[in-house]
Amino acid sequence: MSIVSRRLFGTNGIRGIVNKELTPQIAVQTGAAIGTFFKRGNLVVGYDARTSGPLLANAVIAGLMSTGCNVLIAGLVPTPALQLWIRNHRVNGGVMITASHNPAEYNGIKVMWKDGIELSRPQEVKIENIYFDSKTNLAKWNTLGATCELKGIDDEYVAAIKKHVDVAAIKKKRYHVAVDPTNSVGSLTGPRLLRELGCKVTTINGEIDGTFPGRLPEPRPENLTGLSSTVKAVRADLGVAFDSDADRAVFVDEKGEIQPGDKSFALVEKYFLMDNPGEKIVTSISSSSMIKDVADQYGGEVVWTKIGSVTVSQTMKKVKSNLGGEDYGGIFYGPHQSVRDGAMAAALILDIMARTGKKVSELLDELPRYFIGKGRIECPERLKQQVLSRLIETAKGLDVYTLDGLKVWYKDKSAILVRPSGTEAVYRLYAEAKNAVRVKQLVDEYSSRVKEIIRELKD
Ligand code: MG
Repeated sequence: MSIVSRRLFGTNGIRGIVNKELTPQIAVQTGAAIGTFFKRGNLVVGYDARTSGPLLANAVIAGLMSTGCNVLIAGLVPTPALQLWIRNHRVNGGVMITASHNPAEYNGIKVMWKDGIELSRPQEVKIENIYFDSKTNLAKWNTLGATCELKGIDDEYVAAIKKHVDVAAIKKKRYHVAVDPTNSVGSLTGPRLLRELGCKVTTINGEIDGTFPGRLPEPRPENLTGLSSTVKAVRADLGVAFDSDADRAVFVDEKGEIQPGDKSFALVEKYFLMDNPGEKIVTSISSSSMIKDVADQYGGEVVWTKIGSVTVSQTMKKVKSNLGGEDYGGIFYGPHQSVRDGAMAAALILDIMARTGKKVSELLDELPRYFIGKGRIECPERLKQQVLSRLIETAKGLDVYTLDGLKVWYKDKSAILVRPSGTEAVYRLYAEAKNAVRVKQLVDEYSSRVKEIIRELKD
């Protein structure tokens, strides 16, 4: 977040370690820049359970009020609940204080437009310009913004989700669901929604605690062993884990297996396309080819995008798609709202279980299967772009996507994504194929190719 870079926003809002990279001073200035961008108006502000939530929210609120914005204070709230409220109540936008999947010492600032979707990059640039050029438009003493507390966001949110599923059918099944909201805001709405769907709910890490004592907030398999063993111990039909702001959901089947995000997305996609053939499905380039297989089989069309939830939402808007998804636990259900929504995703999975009468592991087993392989190659930061251009040249004539790293699809249904990491001096490789030998071959082939290009560029 240095002044030199003139960049405040990362791929998902402003992020940093509290009181080191992200101080209250920065938050006040950012709030004032956001307020100037919105030209006064009414904004909603909420936060997740992090210890720094109230501190940073108050700082952002002060900045917003200084420019004449009125602030509706939502307090502790899941990001998707805040987003839905923004859209339904026609306010000008909103701010969510969260660092999503980052550890407890981090926090961040996400800004939402009036449709509830995070700002596009050009909109963020406008805020950055106001911030770095000190062009904040401070109001006179008699036109400062006011605040009021907002009640009932969670009620509205839970009721809205229930409208999109067959509540009676789910209730009849009396499912037992284990939930792990990582001691954050998912605990306010997740267990409640499930109970209203007639489920018996076992919650772990359910108390609000901003130190996140239960687990790291990122719903990655290594952080979900507690949920997996809980599912097995209580013989639950399903396990659901949220990240700290509850826009992502990762599922555990009744056998305790932690499922990849793109697989649960493919399941939702399948039943969505059965009801809505011909629809466009938006997904990031890192998702498995199973998304395309399902689309081919059930009459849909896949639109691939760069990695990043905001890009998925913006692309859905652009191509008029009603379903989007990511490989790490993001499902964007357009009939509800075109943003990631963890609780909506959970309700959709239960809806499919109730509709088919099948166990979640059976449903997932019916999807196309792939073997997966990964690779990691060190690459100096300064060479990353050159390496990518050369690599893309080597893939001429193949079926490729080159807007975010290099993805190559082969006729035998294998594919590989080679991509420079955004945070480390490495290239990452993700391969998939119908057999393990082919996966290894792809990882080996592209690893040596990347290494060779790096060697040539170094000479
Ligand atoms: Mg999140």
